[in-house]
Amino acid sequence: MTAAAPPLLVFTDLDGTLLDDAYRFAGAEAALARLAEQRIPLILATSKTRAELTALSAQLPGVPGLIFENGAGITCPGPDGPETTLFGLGYRALLALLEGLGPAAAPFEGFATLGAERVQALTGLAPSAVTLAMAREASEPGLFHGDAEALARFRAALAPHGLRAIHGGRFLHVMPKRDKVDGLRTLAAQLAPGAPTLALGDGENDRAMLEAATFAVVMPRKDGTRLALERTEGVTIAPAPGPKGWGPAVLAQLSARPPRSPD
Ligand SMILES: [Mg+2]
Repeated sequence: MTAAAPPLLVFTDLDGTLLDDAYRFAGAEAALARLAEQRIPLILATSKTRAELTALSAQLPGVPGLIFENGAGITCPGPDGPETTLFGLGYRALLALLEGLGPAAAPFEGFATLGAERVQALTGLAPSAVTLAMAREASEPGLFHGDAEALARFRAALAPHGLRAIHGGRFLHVMPKRDKVDGLRTLAAQLAPGAPTLALGDGENDRAMLEAATFAVVMPRKDGTRLALERTEGVTIAPAPGPKGWGPAVLAQLSARPPRSPD
């Protein structure tokens, strides 16, 4: 290999982190340009589907990998182009299992049951965006209609099938026992073994990734709350929610770790 290993790998959540409520990254442009200049890979780690990421990653410089559906799937560079790996049962088998459990054990309405119109009403997405959000490959978000005891029973019914249910935003996500951090580990080992990693996120589904990365940036939420990590070293808090905080936080990380001078 002649190309120098990148000095850093950046793993970022999207909603509330790199993207604002309008799905734009206004405020992060300068930091994105600096990542491109320094050839620092940017890996998207999100609850979104792979279909939702395709258009977005085309607008971003140097996205060599994707961690989608909360880690239920990953895309890595391969010798003949991007290679996607899906974990768990697969989407059709997952839907069949949920249906087989029945409404008593699984008071859960997934996207497939809700249908496009209700998903649109719940998310406020444009119809074209709803199609992309519903292009599930390995996990199913939806509404849970039950109390904490019902949720515990639902989780117990899912566990023997290697599935878990996690909250993300307003939806409960039924997915294989994978996490964004599993994707981080796989992609870091493949893209640049031993290179330091920087993770940015705001949600509970970012917690393991933020605990495991070399450096972590916790994004504050609009309601003033933020994740409290167990670690304290290598953790910074972004100055604002969303891309307006992401930009300065990434620039500060890059200033603290100047690029290696070329040989
Ligand atoms: Mg988020």
